[in-house]
Order: sequence, then C-alpha cells, then structure tokens
Amino acid sequence: MSLRNGRSFMAIPGPSEVPDRVLQAMHRGTPDIYAGELPDMMAGIARDLRYVAQTDQNLAIYICNGHGTWEAALANTLQSGDKVLVPATGTFGHSWANAAQRMGIETQMLDHGRKAPVDPEAVRRALEADKSHDLKALLVVHVDTSTSVRSDIAALRAVLDDLKHPALLLVDCIASMGCDEFRMDAWGADVAITASQKGLMVPAGLGFVFFSDRAAEWRKSLTQVSGYWDWTDRAAPEFLYQYFFGTAPTHHLYGLRAALDMIREEGIEQVWRRHQTLAQGLWAAVDHWGQAGTIRANIADPAHRSHAVTTVEIGMGNGDRLRAWCQAQTGVTLGIGLGSQTEDDPKASRIFRFGHMGHLNPPMLLGVLGTVEAGLTALDIPHHPGGVTAAAQAIARDLARV
Ligand SMILES: *Cc1c(COP(=O)(O)O)cnc(C)c1O
Repeated sequence: MSLRNGRSFMAIPGPSEVPDRVLQAMHRGTPDIYAGELPDMMAGIARDLRYVAQTDQNLAIYICNGHGTWEAALANTLQSGDKVLVPATGTFGHSWANAAQRMGIETQMLDHGRKAPVDPEAVRRALEADKSHDLKALLVVHVDTSTSVRSDIAALRAVLDDLKHPALLLVDCIASMGCDEFRMDAWGADVAITASQKGLMVPAGLGFVFFSDRAAEWRKSLTQVSGYWDWTDRAAPEFLYQYFFGTAPTHHLYGLRAALDMIREEGIEQVWRRHQTLAQGLWAAVDHWGQAGTIRANIADPAHRSHAVTTVEIGMGNGDRLRAWCQAQTGVTLGIGLGSQTEDDPKASRIFRFGHMGHLNPPMLLGVLGTVEAGLTALDIPHHPGGVTAAAQAIARDLARV
C-alpha cells in the first residue's frame, strides 16, 4: 500500500517547491516583448534582485542554470592562462574549479574536505605565498550544497584587504541567496552568482550574476569575452532583448516578478530569519533522532551549517532505503548523497539531504520531518523517537524569542 496521493513534495536542495502564486503568474498567453508590461517590468525586477543580493552595483541576467552562471562569472573576469585559488568545501567547489579548468584557467585547490567551512587562515597563507599576485581570483562557494557547510565570506574579504591582495572575490550563492544571510556590498564580494530554482522559488532557467564596479572595470582589461556571456550590455540595456542577448524568457519573468513580490512583502531579513528558525527545527529533529543509533548532521557545528540544506548521515544503506520509502509511500522526495561516495560506500547510501529552501513554512517542514520519522520507524532504522516534537519545540522557542 502507498499513501501517495495529492500534492507531492520536493524536499531536495533544488529545484525547490514553486509557490502557487509564481505558477499562476506564469500561466498566461505569450506576452508582447516589444512594449508594455513585460519590458516595463524589467527595471523593477533588477531593482528587487539587487535587494535580495543586498547590492547597489551591477546585475546581468542570463537564460541558464547555475552552471551557466559559473561560466558567466569566469568569462567576464578571467582569461585562459590566468590562475585562481579555490578553497573547496564540497562537490560544488570542485565542480566550479573544473568549469574554470575547461576554460583554460589554472586552479590552485585548497581542499577543505567535506566537514568544514573555508578556513580564512589557510586562504591567508596561500595568498601570502603569492608574492607576485599571480592569483587573479578566489572562487568560493558560500553554501556547498553537497556538504551543507556555510563559509564566512566577509572574513575572506578581510584577508584580501589585510594583505592588499588584488584578487577578485567570486562567490557562488546558488544555494544560499534568498535563504541564508548574504550581503554582497557589505561583505565585499566582487561577483555573486545565483540561479532561479532554489531560494528564489522559480523553475530552473534564469541565472543571475551580480558584479561590483571594480569587477566591471577589471572586465575591460580582458582582450576577449564571447558575446553571449559578456555582461556589459546585459547590465546596461536599453531594450528588452539586450537583457538576454536575444529573446526574453517571458514566462519565467512573470514568475520571478511574483516571487520577488513575495520576498519584498516578507522582507529579506525576515526571509533569512524564517530559514534560520526552520533550520533549527530540522536540526533539533536530527539531533534528537541521533540520540540512539547513528543519525547525525554532516556538519557538527551549527554555526557553520547552511539554513537551506542539511546533509545527514544515517548509516550504511539507510539513506537509500529512506529516500526510496519516502518517495514510494508518501510522495516526499529527499536529496541524494551527492559527492559523498567513499570506497566502502560507492553509492553514498549512508547519506541523504534535506532541502529546506525557498517556499517553506512550519507545516511543510514539520510534515516532511513527520514523514521521515514514519520512514525511520517503518524501516527499523535505529533512532530515538520524538524528533518531530523536538522540532516543534525548537520552532516554538525560537518564535517566542522575539
Ligand atoms: C545547485 C547548485 C549549483 C548548480 O546549479 P545548476 O542550476 O544545477 O547548474 C552550483 N552551485 C551550488 C552551490 C548549487 O547549490
């Protein structure tokens, strides 16, 4: 028997659930791209995206996914033969480095493993050793979605400033923007990238590259940037097609407008706060379950955990079993153990990930946690029962704080 019925639920770290309001905004005939509402909407969309990134600087929008924004950020700041420093904290750091390598960029890796955030002191040592300033940029993933670790971006800016090292600070915020606190200008990022399908609650297909005035100036020193990736015209468009170097993603823009309205109405700081409170509820459940058996969050210190994704270790084979059970019996999809393969666990079957990003509230989160606890019970996976109560109490405590 299965209880799968009605609306299913994607509890994976992207694509996240799309709100009805966004879906409804997209449900329309093809709009006029020459004049009227759609072109008129663009200035407000750009303004509100900058609000989400907490920047007054530049924005280029692309029709692409997160991988596309990796390439866009690199194409406008680096050229073949340049060297960059990549302090990786999981799969996504390595993947971004790989994208750079394929563009002819040399990558100096600082591998932090899969349990720790970027260590600013390790970055300091690497930059100090770079006396001739061969390192042109730092490629940092704010929240690595595979390990669910969050790194301190402002601390890296402080190191660069302290050493007077000119390298650009490029930050992947694909899993964090609109979920975890991020302040591009205050924290001194030169480039911040994100995509539509995670914290921004819109289907995959839009990529956003925010860049500082300094990065815009730096771009001018490059001898060649391909027309499609060049951010120059996209950031200062006169006509709708210039935003996109071609046809606009019409329906996505209506969806994005609705999502930004939701974020504006709630307020970005409250959006961050909601994610924090719900994350604390989720961790309370995981910690509680873990009082018996082997369940535990991948990142031990809550101060270094993402508020949007949590990677959980649950014992060999159990991650796969739990995901299969939740999917088949309940319609809840949990995330796979991306990049956590080891020699004795070649399929990362001991890992699963909760996505808790974007369109999420207490009934949604508690529903997922209750479903997972039912799965733990049904599958006889060792755990201390009562995780959902622990989550409810943590949420109630946090709400009572203010
Ligand atoms: C999802 C994600 C990506 C890749 O985005 P795609 O849209 O799948 O290309 C890159 N970096 C991080 C941190 C992500 O979470």
